[in-house]
Amino acid sequence: MQNYKSTLSFDHDVANEGEKFDLTLYGADGDSTVLKLNEEQAALLLSRTRRSFYVRCKKDKLLYIIDDARSYVELEAIAQKYYLCDTCGFADINFYGAKRILKVIVEILYKYPKLRRKLCFIGTHSKMEKLLVKLEEGDETTLNRFNLQYIFTSENARNLGRLIHKILSGLMIEHEGYVATAMSAFGLLDAVLLDKNDYDGYAYLQFVSDLRRSEANGFHPKACCTPESIVYHELGHLLDNMCGLVDDPDFKEYYSGLDRNEIKRGLSEYALQSPAEFIAEAFAEYMCNPSPRPIAKKVGALLDVAYEKVKS
Ligand SMILES: [Zn+2]
Repeated sequence: MQNYKSTLSFDHDVANEGEKFDLTLYGADGDSTVLKLNEEQAALLLSRTRRSFYVRCKKDKLLYIIDDARSYVELEAIAQKYYLCDTCGFADINFYGAKRILKVIVEILYKYPKLRRKLCFIGTHSKMEKLLVKLEEGDETTLNRFNLQYIFTSENARNLGRLIHKILSGLMIEHEGYVATAMSAFGLLDAVLLDKNDYDGYAYLQFVSDLRRSEANGFHPKACCTPESIVYHELGHLLDNMCGLVDDPDFKEYYSGLDRNEIKRGLSEYALQSPAEFIAEAFAEYMCNPSPRPIAKKVGALLDVAYEKVKS
């Protein structure tokens, strides 16, 4: 349930050597790769990292359209048409569950439109991995799916695919038995990943009943007993990455004033893992509980303030 953090600062990473605007991306364990760009490509990538969701219809109408979808193809077409992500892959999971997840994405984008820049892919880990393998093969159409066609050279596709694939593999080893994971990947290939073993067929029903138990015994926050709450937790990580809340002085001051018992009783046991998990858990309750408890309310308010400061 944790995520890989990445930040992309063009001010520091773009080396202006004559006509070249090479961009170095740093992966896990000291791994890195270089995207060879010209000035125009670098400018387009910079604007990509400042994207926002734009409203094409009323939220309720879009939620209704999603409810009405009859096939995976239709659901994925809706996600693209209404700009909910660059690409998605739900076909491995329960169709009803996929609709529920997509509706969470709608809710979050209407509230936090700047989060769109971190929603490049939504779907299962296996679908994401297939796309990354194609990138590693230098496949141009895969860059198109991510709306990254303007940086295309086979070399860029291969280098990007290799680096992000390695990050993804590392994440999956680290979080074996995950239910969902957020991957921050420079605003280029960021993803919300779902484990098809939990979201598929009968396992999905089992998963939903397990969540009720986790909430009842305080492992997860109050009112966080649904697949939606798990996705909100992951989106909380992405929002935190985008806003830098974990490093915010006001947040640090608040967090350091709480002891473990207060966190466990006032939020959840899982929130004790780290400040980042504390934020994600609080955000899940902030979004899912109609009357969030004080910790969730406070963290939600701090996040909202930090969000306003994010550049668009
Ligand atoms: Zn987490």
